[in-house]
Amino acid sequence: MQRTDVQNRLLAIDATSESYATDFVRELLAFAQHRQVSDLHLQPTGEGLKVQWRVDGVLQTLGLFPFGTVTSIVARLKVLAELLTYRTEVPQEGRVREGSVSINSQSTIEMRVSTFPTLYGERAVVRFFASQSEYQYLDQLGLPASMAADLGRFLEETTGAILIAGPAGSGKTTTAYACLREVVRKTEGGRSIVSLEDPIEVPVAGVAQSQINSAAGFELASGLKSLLRQDPEVILVGEIRDHETANVAMQASLTGQLVLTTFHAGSAAEAVRRLIDMDVEPYVLRSGILAVLGQRLVRCLCKCASPIESSDELIGLKVERALRPVGCEECQHTGYRGRRVLAELMKMSTVEIGQAILQRHEVQQIQMLSQSAGMISLHDRALNAINEGWTSPAEVRRVLGFRFESGEEPR
Ligand SMILES: [Zn+2]
Repeated sequence: MQRTDVQNRLLAIDATSESYATDFVRELLAFAQHRQVSDLHLQPTGEGLKVQWRVDGVLQTLGLFPFGTVTSIVARLKVLAELLTYRTEVPQEGRVREGSVSINSQSTIEMRVSTFPTLYGERAVVRFFASQSEYQYLDQLGLPASMAADLGRFLEETTGAILIAGPAGSGKTTTAYACLREVVRKTEGGRSIVSLEDPIEVPVAGVAQSQINSAAGFELASGLKSLLRQDPEVILVGEIRDHETANVAMQASLTGQLVLTTFHAGSAAEAVRRLIDMDVEPYVLRSGILAVLGQRLVRCLCKCASPIESSDELIGLKVERALRPVGCEECQHTGYRGRRVLAELMKMSTVEIGQAILQRHEVQQIQMLSQSAGMISLHDRALNAINEGWTSPAEVRRVLGFRFESGEEPR
């Protein structure tokens, strides 16, 4: 692979100089922000420090770099994140205090550093949270207009739960924040809006946001119970991971609160089924859930894409036409630029879906009933996206998994 400007610039820094680590970290973070990287990985190996970053959901290797003879790069990151530099044998986590690293005067990007001891030294991962200016409101997420409108109507409800489901890195939190901002905008401060998050990724004006603190015994489930005594009308609950939180959140949705939450699941139907498996009473789910949004982030093809002629490349997908990624200067030779949301919206409006939940039906049945009630599945949305030419069969397979090929419902 040819060396990129970034590699050249980083390799040009004198590794024997006293300011090596400081210079390296400053340059690297600046490049990372410029390229809208979501995560930065620094892995010590026997040969040097391996640096990788995640762009549009895909990890790319920048290369191997010297650790630094005077000061180490990972130690510099620990200083920025106010971690204990002399403790190298335990995992640590911290956030880079605003303004402590001057990269870009306009920068409001939240950065978190976590370290982990490994064979050749501490590995560090820097996570960049979306900047505040990005994705302000529901209509800016790129959802189909009718879906955004439906979601907007659900956000006007005074009771019930809206679940945002997807795997890690599928943009659930971004959607949740956009929903929250929508509620704030529509009510103009007229509703009591609170959140309980782990962590707070972006501050939202008009919302009383709280962050759980496990070390201090402030947990999600118990915190949520306390929060309910604070007379809230709209609650954003950070990702539901256990029975207790699921139960408290769903009960709240039955008793006069609008609950907004994210949930780890492959599809809307799977989210419902998983909540049943988590022992939330089916009648609570049937009465509480207003809608489930299942979503993924899919990379958009760069304009350098070219038509696919061989059907092999369609990997069994039933589409009329398709494009494949090529690569050019503008897309850093990846063939893709930016990402868009691919989503399905399951509405709990029909009697049949309610019945299926009460009878604890399997994912496939819930899925089928939702589709006959008008839901366009992630699968069909993905085929549309390929037909429309904004993404490729290979990208759809990467994001929705191999089960997708066999025509089964994606997970
Ligand atoms: Zn390109």
